[in-house]
Amino acid sequence: MGRGYDSLVGTWDAVVDVSNVCWSPQLPPQGRRTPFWHRLELVLDAWRELHGNGVRYTLVADDSLVRALDNPAEYRGLRDNGELLVRPVADSLILDLARDSGLHVITRDHYVDYRPRHPWIENSPEKFHCWSMTDGRVRIEPLGIVHASAQTISRAIESKDLQRTRIHSNDPQHRKILGTRWKCVNMLCVEAAQWQDQLLTWPLVTPEGTVLCPSCHRPLLALGPRDPLYEAVVEHRESGAEIMRFPLEVNSPVTVGRGAAIKGVNLAGDQDSFRTAVMRVSRQHLLVWIEDLNGATRRMVAVDLGSRNGTAVERWTGAAFDRPKPLPPSRETIIGSKDRLILGGTVNLRLSGKHYVTYPGKSEPAALAVPFWPGAENNATVSG
Ligand SMILES: [Zn+2]
Repeated sequence: MGRGYDSLVGTWDAVVDVSNVCWSPQLPPQGRRTPFWHRLELVLDAWRELHGNGVRYTLVADDSLVRALDNPAEYRGLRDNGELLVRPVADSLILDLARDSGLHVITRDHYVDYRPRHPWIENSPEKFHCWSMTDGRVRIEPLGIVHASAQTISRAIESKDLQRTRIHSNDPQHRKILGTRWKCVNMLCVEAAQWQDQLLTWPLVTPEGTVLCPSCHRPLLALGPRDPLYEAVVEHRESGAEIMRFPLEVNSPVTVGRGAAIKGVNLAGDQDSFRTAVMRVSRQHLLVWIEDLNGATRRMVAVDLGSRNGTAVERWTGAAFDRPKPLPPSRETIIGSKDRLILGGTVNLRLSGKHYVTYPGKSEPAALAVPFWPGAENNATVSG
């Protein structure tokens, strides 16, 4: 970073991966795995401190960000002014802008899935910058783009043909694995690009008890115990066959969709047999989370992210499922513990009965277990 460049107008103009910044648990409030608008200001300030107040930013966000953001008014204000560009998947626009306008990129994402379409990334590592916290301050650092071999890219995109070891929650060793937060540290792996900075799906476990990333098969880093934890089950609607399960931590929203580059849970992961059904699911289809109500009870909340083939809810009446009702797009809908969501008409998503409390010696009131959550009669669409 030669000082001579600082005086040239435009030399340090940057495009900012706003969703990636706002979600980053590396920034204060550190460790929180939901997006905060203030994190964007911290990073922009750190960049200005290095490169002067004259730098201009192009801000690009995924449109799902606003659904989980602490301060949606700020987001909407900037979007309506044209100061924040919003796309269903922001990465393509970020990379197009960076390439065409020579902008720096502020992100923690290594854009591994985009390397074939953007070969310039590997030739321009100096254009990519990330952030860290050092001595209580936000610092800008080189992201450290490294060459991804063609083999790594195809593995990252396909992430299939994996051998899955069944994890048994009554096995103490496996229970500890389920209750641990994991991170893939292979920067060329799609799992390393998750906004929550942790693996969003269950890990692979070998018969010897080694814990591996389900995408790249490398050993995972343990981050410590998870927050209280539930589990979602995804099923092929026509046959009832299970497609996958994934963990849901309290107050940690997860995007569910299709494709390795979605930044969320990719339903098109492993199994060819469900391909036709999963093809009806949009790339960014649903945002889902477990909401805590004053520690007294919990509930699942879902937002359809404007998916092409829609989401419906089947309410459990106590004896049978009611007729499916479409979820209004972009609105929060409370999902009862026995209700089912239907994605694209072809894929069901529901809660399993599992409830894990991961801190040793801690327990929670029975009301927090899934079977004791309020039923469908108490459920409604709550807010925009
Ligand atoms: Zn990985």
